[in-house]
Amino acid sequence: MGIIGAGMSGLCMAATLRRAGYHDFTLYEKADEVGGTWRENTYPGLSCDVPARFYSYSFAPNPDWTANFAPGSEIQAYFTGFADSSGLREHIRFGTEVTEARWNGERWQVSLSDGDTDMVDVLVSAAGVLHRPKLPAIAGLASFAGSAFHSARWDHSVELADQRVGVIGTGSTGAQIVSALAGVAGRLTLFQRTAQWVFPMPIVSYSRLGRALMRRFRPLNRASYRFYQQLLEQSFGRAVVERGWRRRLLATLCRLNLRLGVRDKELRRKLTPPDQPMCKRLIISGRFYRAVTRHGVDVVTDAIDHIEPEGVVTADGVRHELDVLVLATGFDAHAYLRPINLIGEDGVKLEQVWADGPRAYRTVALPGFPNFFMLMGPHSPIGNHSLVAIAETQADYIVRWIDQIARGDIRQVAPTERATDEFNAAMREAMPDTVWTTGCQSWYLGKDGLPELWPWSPARHREMLAGDHTDEFVAR
Ligand code: NAP
Repeated sequence: MGIIGAGMSGLCMAATLRRAGYHDFTLYEKADEVGGTWRENTYPGLSCDVPARFYSYSFAPNPDWTANFAPGSEIQAYFTGFADSSGLREHIRFGTEVTEARWNGERWQVSLSDGDTDMVDVLVSAAGVLHRPKLPAIAGLASFAGSAFHSARWDHSVELADQRVGVIGTGSTGAQIVSALAGVAGRLTLFQRTAQWVFPMPIVSYSRLGRALMRRFRPLNRASYRFYQQLLEQSFGRAVVERGWRRRLLATLCRLNLRLGVRDKELRRKLTPPDQPMCKRLIISGRFYRAVTRHGVDVVTDAIDHIEPEGVVTADGVRHELDVLVLATGFDAHAYLRPINLIGEDGVKLEQVWADGPRAYRTVALPGFPNFFMLMGPHSPIGNHSLVAIAETQADYIVRWIDQIARGDIRQVAPTERATDEFNAAMREAMPDTVWTTGCQSWYLGKDGLPELWPWSPARHREMLAGDHTDEFVAR
């Protein structure tokens, strides 16, 4: 078996295989360390806005989280520590990128960047969603004389203290960076194209006693995991996909947060989004409004016209002189497996199948691509939910098919076109109820303008991946 990627979901798949008694599998990891997004993102202020106790594998709780929302470095340490303690490292081929995977009628022929070719019976993609940085198409960007880098390629050699720092982008990343750099940079300028709603959430440190109790009483960890799971599923998880009081309540809390957090009317006007809370991915932060109201922090809402060696020039003709320019402009969220060249039955390329946008069977499989499965595939319930929990559900489902192959009941299996079409049609039908279709631009939307997210609750995702659905697959 082959797994592409040793990030959070690749490790989850590997651990699930191990727990099911499998030892013959390899993870292909392009980098030289595990962790995926948590390895690549190291920007100041990086943390996970999903509570750490729930952003952990349910089978590997971590009693040592230092706060309700753990910093990025701690999460990365959790994954590297897990790779060590679980013994999974011996299965990982580091520095090995999968360049092509071709179904030869019996098995997957996997071509690797080091020139090797592997043959595997089952191929699982755990290649991640948000890892291809999107650079803005702004005239003159390359001419900037100071240091400029994307948030996911942070240059730690660049001094920030007392420097004039500009940040382009106000997504979750931009908000975290601005919150961390306010008061550190000499002058901080946030270039905001569209204001975003912010849900208030304080960061609370866990005491040593609390951590000791978690270590001593394992059921406490489990209870805490379930508590946060229920909290998120019943609040954000439902508010985004159901019209009703939950959506109204969370929206009101966001509006109140802005009203109380930003007293200056002019700044508040600038920071008032044109769309409904949660239409774009909600920013969870108890620090952002405090940061932008600080002395030495400017929010610029005039459109960026071009960039010059000295700084950013906005449409009103003002030149904002800068020493450092941070591009918190997001990722190509629709690239999924690309640039891997995936070739299924009859030489059909994934590129052709996904010409109009990525689509899958129940987020995990593809017709015409036998014995190929995905974690975090198209329409996985991401939003403000824990991707770790979603990966576990998908890994459990995939292992059940692997069991059938391993027992010799079947040799190859892929979902039918019909079942995949029906699933996608049902999803399209459910989209109008979601908050993502209420009129905003975001990376959630695909080429056809429809959200590429899961339009139902996370619980429904579990239910939909609970059975085997043998009637919706072609198995030989
Ligand atoms: P993002 O949400 O896609 O935000 C990109 C920002 O850049 C937006 O404000 C966008 O403005 C702006 N932008 C893009 N091109 C621009 C241009 N040419 N000129 C001016 N502004 C431009 O990206 P992100 O903040 O990196 O977040 C991506 C996702 O990563 C999140 O939604 C989340 O899923 C994940 N994330 C999670 C956490 C966490 O704590 N769990 C933290 C960080 C990121 P417009 O809104 O006008 O397009």
